[in-house]
Amino acid sequence: MAEIIDGKALAAKIKREIKAKAEAFEFKHGRKVGLAVVKVGDDQASAVYVRNKIKACDECGVRSIEHFLKHDTQERELLELIDSLNADETVDGILVQLPLPKQIDSKSVLSRISPDKDADGFHAVNAGKLFLGDNPRFVACTPRGIIELIKSTGVCIAGKHAVVVGRSNIVGKPISSLLLSYDATVTVCHSKTKALADFTRQADILVAAIGKAKFITADMIKPGAVVIDVGMNRDEAGKLCGDVDFDKAKDVAGYITPVPGGVGPMTIAMLLSNTVDGAAHE
Ligand code: NDP
Repeated sequence: MAEIIDGKALAAKIKREIKAKAEAFEFKHGRKVGLAVVKVGDDQASAVYVRNKIKACDECGVRSIEHFLKHDTQERELLELIDSLNADETVDGILVQLPLPKQIDSKSVLSRISPDKDADGFHAVNAGKLFLGDNPRFVACTPRGIIELIKSTGVCIAGKHAVVVGRSNIVGKPISSLLLSYDATVTVCHSKTKALADFTRQADILVAAIGKAKFITADMIKPGAVVIDVGMNRDEAGKLCGDVDFDKAKDVAGYITPVPGGVGPMTIAMLLSNTVDGAAHE
């Protein structure tokens, strides 16, 4: 029976540490650390994520600067807003909630954010530095959170076979680079991978970032493995669930994250950590 990795408790502990750092910043600079939170349109899931991020700002003593734009906002208007936030010295981090409406090119928007305020770590400069092992100022929040979750188990990453299922720019690719930087042997799988289970069954550390409810079944997991479930899906009953069939997988894995209460809270904690550390960066 696996040990359940409590992402909520770990995130709460990290947020207390962030709050202390944010207070030290305020004492030194006479203003709060500021995170601009930009949302375009009224996607329901985005609204929930944004609400949780703003709540976390409050908990950590970070000022959230909210910009909620209409769904028919044009790319030019959003780029102008980003330019003004880049120039605003009271804004330390800029978060643009994805997905953006069709008329806006996410890549142009993310690349317009100053790499020095890129709290999400999605800018090509930060993502590229991560890939090169060149100490990026910001590392993407979900991958950072995953590393903390793995470390919390006490399992040493070095030398382990880590299998990542998913190769997105926001999760799969950056977590693969990070695990490599921690000296894991990394295999990256995706939708064109043949005989996926042959790979996942070899994983000492398995990261599932697919977006398909309960896709990773118990028979795809190596006994004793550390299983990190990034997925946020709805099951047939409309209940929130991950990419891993948790109820059965927990009998095989050594450690496993639940959904909700695993990766999600850590992603938010890391966003705040990036923002406060970024602000304090001289
Ligand atoms: P994407 O849709 O961008 O990427 C999904 C990846 O899964 C792709 O690389 C895709 O392969 C791969 N994939 C799809 N089907 C299969 C398959 N049958 N076999 C193997 N691989 C497959 O998703 P994200 O990375 O953005 O997110 C993944 C999940 O994590 C989602 O549920 C999302 O909601 C959740 N998420 C949760 C976060 C949190 O904080 N908890 C943060 C970010 C995401 P290919 O590249 O070939 O298409």
